[in-house]
Order: sequence, then C-alpha cells, then structure tokens
Amino acid sequence: MCMRRHHPQNVQRQFLRVVFCDNANAIRAKAIHLGILAENMDYPVSITAAQLAEPVMYDGVVPDSGLGPVGEVWLIPDWSTCKILPYAPSHARAIGDMIQDGQAWSLCPRYFLKRAIAAAKQAGIEVMAAFENEFSLLHSSNNEIIPTDDTVFASTLGMDLNRKIIDAIADALVAQDMTVERYYPESAPGQHEISIRYAEALQAADNQIAFRETVRAVAIEHGLKASFLPKIFADKAGNGCHLHLSLWQDGKNITGDGSGKLSSTALAFIAGILHHLPALMALTTPSTNSYRRIRPHFWSGAFAAWGYDNREAAVRVPSNPVPPSPTHFELKTSDASANPYLALGAVIFAGLDGIARNLNPGDPVDIDPGLFSEAELTERGNAARKIERLPQNLGEAIEHLSGDRLLLDALGAELNRAYLAVRKAEWEAMKDMELETEVNLLLERY
Ligand code: GLU
Ligand code: MG
Repeated sequence: MCMRRHHPQNVQRQFLRVVFCDNANAIRAKAIHLGILAENMDYPVSITAAQLAEPVMYDGVVPDSGLGPVGEVWLIPDWSTCKILPYAPSHARAIGDMIQDGQAWSLCPRYFLKRAIAAAKQAGIEVMAAFENEFSLLHSSNNEIIPTDDTVFASTLGMDLNRKIIDAIADALVAQDMTVERYYPESAPGQHEISIRYAEALQAADNQIAFRETVRAVAIEHGLKASFLPKIFADKAGNGCHLHLSLWQDGKNITGDGSGKLSSTALAFIAGILHHLPALMALTTPSTNSYRRIRPHFWSGAFAAWGYDNREAAVRVPSNPVPPSPTHFELKTSDASANPYLALGAVIFAGLDGIARNLNPGDPVDIDPGLFSEAELTERGNAARKIERLPQNLGEAIEHLSGDRLLLDALGAELNRAYLAVRKAEWEAMKDMELETEVNLLLERY
C-alpha cells in the first residue's frame, strides 16, 4: 500500500485522504487515520448523498436536486492513484469512487468519465488528454489581491521573482509521477502556466485533481495563495485550463491523416464538440466567473470554430514543426472551475456523437472572428457550420444543456438533475454580482 511504499523522510504517517470532486467542482476529502485503515480497507469513509447537491456558495442542499438528508455513499479509494503528499508527507491521497449498495453510484463524476471512456472504446477509440492549467500566485492578504509579480508574458523577471515556488511545484508534481513539460509566466499579473504530459483520459482527470491540490498547497507552504479562478482582473488575461485531446486506435495516434491535416475521425469528433459546445460549456466553463474570461481577443475560445494554430477558435489544432503533425487538438473553452471528470466525460460523449453522425466541422478558420460583425461571420462561415459567438453567461449555457438530449442522457437522469440544480442555484445567486464580490467569494474555492 502506498503509505508503506515510500519512506522519503522520517515522517510519522497519519492520514489517508480519500478525495472527490463535487458538482460545484470543489475538491473535498474525508481522511481516515492509518491506525484504523487496515480494518477498514474496503470501506474507509462515507459521505452523504446530498454532497452532490451543494453549490459553491455554501454547504447546503440546493432545491430540486433530487437529493436530501437521507442516503449514504461510500468513497472507495482507487489504490492505483494513492500518493504520499510531497507537500504534506504525513498524509496520503487516493481518489475515491462513489459506491452505493455495492455498485457504482449513478451520480459519481468519476463513474461518468469511466462510462465515456467505455463508450469510446466501443467505438474503437481511446482518448488521451491533458489539462493545461494557468493559475494566479498572490500574496496572502485577507482583503486585498496582490499578485506576486506585475510582469508580462514569458517574462524572465517573472521567472526569477517566482522561481522558488515554481520549482517547488514542479518538484511536487514530479514526486507524484506527473511529467512536467513546459513553464512560463503568463500574461496577467502573478499568472503562470505549467503543462504536464498527456495521459489516458481517467488518469488525466485524476492528474487535474492532483495538480490543483498541489499548486494550492505548495503556495500555502510558501506563504502565498494560488487561485485557478478564470477571471480575477477584468482587463487582464484570464486563467484558462485548455483541454488537450488526441484520439488513438490500437496504440496508434489517429488524430492526423499523415499528410499534415486532421484525420476524418478527428474532424468528426471536433464537429461533435462544436455542435454541443453551447451546452458543454455548462460543464467545461461552469462558473458564473467563467464567462468573464470568455471574450474575443483574449485567446479564450469565444467562438464556435476550429482552426490550425488559431488561438481565437474554440478548438485550436496546434501544428508540429516536423511530422507527425497534427498530433492533438485543444478545447480552449474550458477552465479549472470545471469538475475534470464531468468536463472530459462530456467532451468525449460530444465527440463520439460527431463520429456516430459523421458531423462536418466546416472549414478551418484562419481569421480572428472577433474582428468581424455577425453578418460578416455568417458570410465567412459555410453551410456546414457558421462561426458563432458562444454563450455569454452561465444562464445561457444552462439553457443549452437543459435542451441537449445527448448530454442529458449521457449524464443520466439523477446526475443531470443534481448537476443542473447546482448550476441553476449558482446562477441565481451570482448572476448580478459585481466582479469584486464574486472574486472574494470564489478566489479560494478554485
Ligand atoms: N489565458 C488565455 C485563456 O484565457 C490563454 C492564453 C494562451 O493561449 O495560452 O485561455
Ligand atoms: Mg497559456
């Protein structure tokens, strides 16, 4: 078992945290003391079913969620995810699967992603993914937001000012078996981006939980605060969490067609994402704050369009300098206020629908759609797909999800009911909030 495996320091091990991510995209855990773990290995901790009906604002059950005070769900550690926490070595973390009456619970977000992976497998496809996080480092102050730097994109001064904490984050990620790839200070004050290697879909979502946990905890160790909140400063770049995807068959990457373009499978998958994107956004950009980030000219995916190396399109297909190219694509209309299991699972179901119906994503877009009027965009789009501005607030995305039969069915009746109830409660509570009030409420949640 992982608590016994590594002995990096002379640390008295204390707790195993069994972690889950709820419908408000909060990462939570219940911990069990190691002294009693051996006798509770199969069922170490439980949560109330109502936990999946809690909004981001407070601990309480939202109306019409289908969940209430009665009902217990067990969190069963997936031991393959168990890690000693490098930033808290007396604790370990394992991601929990939600079990009720000995079966996977229909509302478990991780089970939803497993169902999406199984559906992909059924279609002969394996999905690899990576969440590419941007986050803000802030000085720890109760009532003021003071970024750790005021530097510009990729500033070496930004690197020097933040080197110690960035190195510590990289160390902690590596210690949890993630492959750290690239790092740079991003555009906004105190904003940084660290990318990690792609993985099989379930592991990519588990990695996203570990990544968010690690950045936040290492910041605390350094006397700082970290936040993944999509938009902290109105006029500066927001924190995206682009979702990188590649499609595989029999161990071979089939995203490209071998001649520098996307394969027909990848094109149909992208068409499915674009077709469902207004509804998907209730899962990939699920916070009221998310929509402050998604604006033209901020490279945040404000338009339902795809393009090669186009940073204003919702789906960007990055090209590689040498073949094979392309090898993957990214959904920019995605942020870290999303529950990674729900977001990735829903994106997979949408993509598979594109394949099943052989949808056409239209031509690649090689302009900045934000520079054109709606009429001009209609003209430039083609019969297969118009270039459209995506939902501009959570309310609109909720409407789209409420009418998207494919995604509702994929989620299943119980999960879609609880999920929509939580989103609606958040929208009602926060739709008229000023940015400052919203940021104060959400900064430490995400
Ligand atoms: N910060 C941008 C966003 O909101 C992304 C910038 C980039 O392309 O890395 O998604
Ligand atoms: Mg970036």
